[in-house]
Amino acid sequence: MNIHEYQAKRLLGTFGAPIAEGVAVYSPEQAEEWAAKLPGPLYVVKSQIHAGGRGKGKFKELGPDAKGGVRLAKSTEEVVAFAKEMLGNTLVTKQTGPAGKVVNRLYIEDGADIERELYLSILVDRSVGRPAFVVSTEGGMDIEAVAEETPEKIVNVAIDPEQGVTDADSAKLCDALELKDEARADGMTLFPILYKAFMEKDMSLLEVNPLIVMKNGRLRVLDAKVSFDGNALFRHDDIRELRDETEEDVKEIEASKWDLAYVALDGNIGCMVNGAGLAMATMDIIKLYGKEPANFCDVGGGASKEKVAAAFKIITADPRVEGILVNIFGGIMKCDVIAEGVVAAVKEVGLKVPLVVRLEGTNVELGKKILNESGLAITAADDLDDAAKKIVAAVNG
Ligand code: ADP
Ligand code: MG
Repeated sequence: MNIHEYQAKRLLGTFGAPIAEGVAVYSPEQAEEWAAKLPGPLYVVKSQIHAGGRGKGKFKELGPDAKGGVRLAKSTEEVVAFAKEMLGNTLVTKQTGPAGKVVNRLYIEDGADIERELYLSILVDRSVGRPAFVVSTEGGMDIEAVAEETPEKIVNVAIDPEQGVTDADSAKLCDALELKDEARADGMTLFPILYKAFMEKDMSLLEVNPLIVMKNGRLRVLDAKVSFDGNALFRHDDIRELRDETEEDVKEIEASKWDLAYVALDGNIGCMVNGAGLAMATMDIIKLYGKEPANFCDVGGGASKEKVAAAFKIITADPRVEGILVNIFGGIMKCDVIAEGVVAAVKEVGLKVPLVVRLEGTNVELGKKILNESGLAITAADDLDDAAKKIVAAVNG
């Protein structure tokens, strides 16, 4: 799960990280009211969407010459003018894809006097099995280019989770970021704080780009992007509250309501399966026969008829789906429940694409009988290979 920049900074602020004063607003009126309460004279108006690259992004409706999604304003009047231009319009950045994202919230923040822009992130480095800091003196808007062209300017410091961030770790990070005097002292306290936030809140990524050294020599977290491990959200009520569903795929929201594992992919065959292993095998065999999966929805073990129907509806809701393969190996999950769920869903939402069903395992005969007697145009398959061949053939017409 992702959150907005302003939410991420507030969260880091509660751990003691240095952030600017700012307010989130939803209308130009609110922008006017709240900007007046900031110290000024420089304000920054920042689009809040779940994507980076906003500074260099462009608004679809405003043309190529208009300013981007992060703007410096020199007066409250300018803040209001920017708010009017940005709210309700679609921001396209390197990370949003060509469709862009509609800006419904702005963050208005006190402007900082920037001396240097640095890069810092914390992630789980699977190659060493530890959380790790990744830092660079070349922060700001183009870290991808730095990684590509001058990878030696990116420094990785893995942390021993038994010890946490030691002074030696912090010193290494300070050296890598060329921090001196007050900025160095700030760094020595900031790095353990960020690590604590990362661990306590079960983050999968914490990215501060840029971390700035200000003209007064102090450090500040200027931008923050945070992702949380979805499997740990159950123990963080405060984080779940920050969810902004308007930023998420409606199908994924629906799937998470039903506790279904739904993953969107790029092809055109929708897959309903039970269990991650069978999902992988099903996708592999679809590819073997020359097609690509559009998604897979794992109904898991012991799903109800209603849950199966919800899964089927989520799969069919994707307009790219040109055919559906239901591949179930019933163990705990019973084939008749799958059959009932599929029939119920098809009766409700119709079936506009070919459907191939392969059932095996517990109550398989009953499941097949339900499908046969449903009167629906369902192609039955004998095994995984047969199922994949049949759905690929059906989609190829
Ligand atoms: P994004 O990464 O999505 O482009 P950032 O929050 O990193 O958005 O902002 C882009 C750039 O705008 C920063 O690299 C910085 O130069 C400038 N900027 C952002 N916030 C402020 C601020 N409060 N004061 C001064 N400059 C800012
Ligand atoms: Mg940034």
